Amino acid sequence: MSLRFKAVEEAFKKKALVVSAPAKFTSEYYGKYVFTTSTMSKYLSKDVMKSLKNAVQKGDTLDRNIADYVALGMKMWAMELGATHYTHWFQPLTDGTAEKHDSFIDYAGGGPGEAIIEEFSGKLLAQQEPDASSFPSGGIRSTFEARGYTAWDPSSPAFVIDDTLVVPTIFISYTGEALDLKAPLLKALSAVDKAAVNVCNYFDTNVNKVYSYLGWEQEYFLIDEGLFAIRPDLLLTGRTLLGHESAKNQQLEDHYFGAIPTRVASYMRDLEFEGYKYGIPLKTRHNEVAPNQFELAPIFGETNLSIDQNLLIMKLMKTVARRHGFRLLLHEKPFAGINGSGKHNNWSLGTNTGVGLLTPGKTPEENLQFITFIVNILQAVYKNNALLKASIMTAQNAHRLGANEAPPAIISVFLGTQVSAILDKLEKASSKEAIVVDSKKKLSLGIAHIPEVLLDNTDRNRTSPFAFTGNRFEFRAVGSSANCSSAMTVLNTAVAAQLKEFKAEVDAKIKAGTSKPDAIFEVIQSYIKASKPIRFDGNGYSDEWKIEAAKRGLDCETSVPEIYKAYTTPESVKLFTSTSVLTEKELHARNEVKWETYTKKIQIEARVLGDLAVNHIIPIATRYQSFLLDNVVKIKAVFSGDKADKLSALDSALIVEIGERIATIKNAVDDMIDTRRKINKIESEYDKALAYHDKVLPYFDVIRYNSDKLELIIDDEMWTLPKYRELLFIR
Ligand code: ADP
Ligand code: MG
Repeated sequence: MSLRFKAVEEAFKKKALVVSAPAKFTSEYYGKYVFTTSTMSKYLSKDVMKSLKNAVQKGDTLDRNIADYVALGMKMWAMELGATHYTHWFQPLTDGTAEKHDSFIDYAGGGPGEAIIEEFSGKLLAQQEPDASSFPSGGIRSTFEARGYTAWDPSSPAFVIDDTLVVPTIFISYTGEALDLKAPLLKALSAVDKAAVNVCNYFDTNVNKVYSYLGWEQEYFLIDEGLFAIRPDLLLTGRTLLGHESAKNQQLEDHYFGAIPTRVASYMRDLEFEGYKYGIPLKTRHNEVAPNQFELAPIFGETNLSIDQNLLIMKLMKTVARRHGFRLLLHEKPFAGINGSGKHNNWSLGTNTGVGLLTPGKTPEENLQFITFIVNILQAVYKNNALLKASIMTAQNAHRLGANEAPPAIISVFLGTQVSAILDKLEKASSKEAIVVDSKKKLSLGIAHIPEVLLDNTDRNRTSPFAFTGNRFEFRAVGSSANCSSAMTVLNTAVAAQLKEFKAEVDAKIKAGTSKPDAIFEVIQSYIKASKPIRFDGNGYSDEWKIEAAKRGLDCETSVPEIYKAYTTPESVKLFTSTSVLTEKELHARNEVKWETYTKKIQIEARVLGDLAVNHIIPIATRYQSFLLDNVVKIKAVFSGDKADKLSALDSALIVEIGERIATIKNAVDDMIDTRRKINKIESEYDKALAYHDKVLPYFDVIRYNSDKLELIIDDEMWTLPKYRELLFIR
């Protein structure tokens, strides 16, 4: 029996694993492996706790003494949980997370031959030098003095995983440049905090802190491990490079509405238990639209923490999937012709006083604040639509955007009918009717009451890449495998810069003698007018929208290497430098890494595809062709004349078709290799990435098209690669 049929047989035999909860109630073990504030209080003194809190909330620098105490407490706690090692956990510019484990052990007296003790000092907690040479820096670390080090991020709690204490860190060069995704994120969060507090103070002087909140929805596929193992493309690239559509896929939407398959349900339970141990507040689990596609989402939290939790859960998902005989696919488009996977980023801002700035308020004055933020966000997204797109773009996500049921590679904003109607009214109103000042000098929105029903707004446009959903915006273009930091850094920075500009404009008007309500109104009104092109409530999947969006001047670029250029336009450089999030040098360096990563991804796929075509598809096709030829010879031996011709006509036609397709595939593979050989000599990362996009990718389509046609013709028993129906329907 072929490997493929063996794998199918084995997969069918697999039963759901029995998993049991670590304790009767989730609250009993929730966050057990996290050094949370309440756990900390058992290991640290009140003074130390206070210094730590100030460092986190106000950004005070933490002195070495305090770090020593924290490290000591952390070590005691971690060792009680069985930790023998520690690691600085960071987010390199490429995928995933990176870590280097060191044991706690050290010589007691500091010299060789001494007894061994467990040591973890403030110095080790605060800073470490990973073996950084292998992480991309885009040229920043090209000289020997520009080494990199990791530095503790006290705003995200440490945790213990297996035998290791994990300390979340940023990764920067000795010359101060960010070499990771977290360092600029933290700067962006601080920028939006400051800018938003200043604007909130127009309405409420008690506001002194604004938090950025994120709730991600993680989509993924689960594929049986045995089937996965014999698909070299899944194994090496995370997606199928070949494969004809299954006769049945997602047409009936029966997977979405159906019960969760038992093996998967058991995986989900197991994963939730793991997530809860790490304080990840997993809330929803369900089937998604495509067969074998699923989703999970936590309760939203502070953005930095929520991102770390997402990175951790992606890792846990992989581990738990293997325990259940599955492989996890986080790729944005593992299968052609059916839905890909995204990671909707539900984002909002909220104050220390407990007000959700994107939540329509109960009182009219809260509604004015709400509208102020909505309009500023609209303006920020409008001005930076190309950059926001660049923040979510990767080689993988490019396959998803604009394909089945995914937002197009054009950023627009859906507001829903109610908020749209208010903005339309405000656009035409006079300041007198729009804004009311009461006897206590409080400002409120005079023109339209925002109904509370908005919160339960089911008026949701699923085709919009950036949609208002009642109390938050949902940035849906983010890819499933992405680190949300890229998108969240750009979004929060763009909004911070916009709020700063808003405040400057309002203050200038006030200084020139305009009353505060009039000044606020006039600026809001000008933004409503200016940002109109970004508002789109129609069908984002339609072809008409692409034409319309281009007319409106929105960025419609689809070539990934080109899209990254949005990071280094004069406007973007100004945006990032004025908010102190990234320097121009860092922006350029990061693009180098992006282009290089893009090139490598396509390069690997091209090689795998070439191998599959030459080592699987062509030999199988030749074998089947030979089988048909045999048959023709035999027919002709038994029959003669017209009869023989008639009986062998079908075989002959197939023999010709197979021959032609084999030749086309082989030529395309040869040409592709030749093209790559030339392109690889290009020095500039940008030019190389562009060449891979323009000259290599088109071969993929030719090879795939012909191979998928062969899959339809060739005897099923001969076909070696698990087919779409097997990958997608066996669970
Ligand atoms: P849906 O699939 O209907 O969009 P889900 O319940 O799957 O919604 O996910 C919504 C996500 O949005 C959850 O993570 C939820 O906690 C988060 N969320 C809800 N309110 C806010 C908010 N104000 N700010 C940020 N995220 C939010
Ligand atoms: Mg959603």
